[in-house]
Amino acid sequence: MRKHLFRLTLLASLAAAALPALAALDVFACEPEWGALATELAGDNADVYVATTALQDVHHIQARPSLIAAARRADLLVCTGAELEVGWLPVLLRQSGNNRIQRGHPGYFEATRYVRLIEIPSRLDRAQGDVHPMGNPHIHTDPRNIARVADALAQRLGEVDPGHASTYQSRLQDFSQRWSRATSRWKRGAAPLHGVRVIEHHKGFSYLFDWLGIRAVGFLEPKPGVEPTTGHLAELLAQQRRNPAKMVIRASYNNPRASEWFAERAHIPVVVLPFTVGGDSASKDLFSWYDDMIERLLEANR
Ligand SMILES: [Zn+2]
Repeated sequence: MRKHLFRLTLLASLAAAALPALAALDVFACEPEWGALATELAGDNADVYVATTALQDVHHIQARPSLIAAARRADLLVCTGAELEVGWLPVLLRQSGNNRIQRGHPGYFEATRYVRLIEIPSRLDRAQGDVHPMGNPHIHTDPRNIARVADALAQRLGEVDPGHASTYQSRLQDFSQRWSRATSRWKRGAAPLHGVRVIEHHKGFSYLFDWLGIRAVGFLEPKPGVEPTTGHLAELLAQQRRNPAKMVIRASYNNPRASEWFAERAHIPVVVLPFTVGGDSASKDLFSWYDDMIERLLEANR
C-alpha cells in the first residue's frame, strides 16, 4: 500500500516536472547563445531547443532527423543568419514542413538583421571556400550586439505569442539592466587587453576584438573556413619574428593542431576560448560565458 502510494506521488511529481513541455511557445535556436537569450527573455513561457553545441563547428552541421523533428514543432526559429547556417538550415526548413518558421514569416528570426556586420568582402569569393561571404556572422562575441538582438527578439516573441507580450517586455527590461551593468564591468576589466596583438585560428572573435581594442594581426586559416596550410603557417611565423603577437587564440571547437604548432615555435601561449555558452564548464549562460572569455584572455596577457 505504502509502495503504491509512493508510486502515485512519483507519478504526480513526474507529471509536474513535465509541465514545461506544455509551455506556450516552442523555440528552436540554431546556436547556444540564441537559446540562452531566448531563455533569458521568455523564461517558463518557452520550451527552448538548441540545435547545436559550442563544441560543434556551426558552419558545418548535419540536418539530422532529431533536428528536423524539433523544427517541425517549433513556433519560432532563432538563428544567426548572414549565411552562417547556409549549409544546413535551408534543408532543415524544407524538411520540417513547418510553415510558421519559414523565411519571411513571423516565426523566422535572424539575429544578424539587427546589427552592423563587419568584414564584408568587397567581392563574393565563396568559390574559394570562404565561409563568411556576407560579412562576419559571429556577432554574438560583442555584448552590445547581444543587447540589440535582445530588443528585437523580445519584440518578436511578443508578436508570435501576443498573450505574453508584456512578460517578454518586462523580462527584457530586467535582462537589459543586468546586461548593461555587466558590459561596463567587462569593458573596464579588459582594459589591459587594449592594443594587444593576437593571432587567431578562425575569424570567430572579430567583434569581441573590435569591442576591446584587441588587434588580430594574423589568422591560421588562410581564409575563413579554409584549413591552415604549412605554407601559410610558415609565412605567419616569419611575420611573428618581425612583429610578434602575444598569444594565439582558437575556439573550443577548432582543431588544436595548427595553434599548438604555431605557439610552440613562436613561444607564445595558446588561449582556448569558449565560442559560446557551453564551450567549457564555466560558461553556463551568457553572463558566465563572457566572464570566462575575458578572464582567459587576461590570464594569458599577464
Ligand atoms: Zn566563421
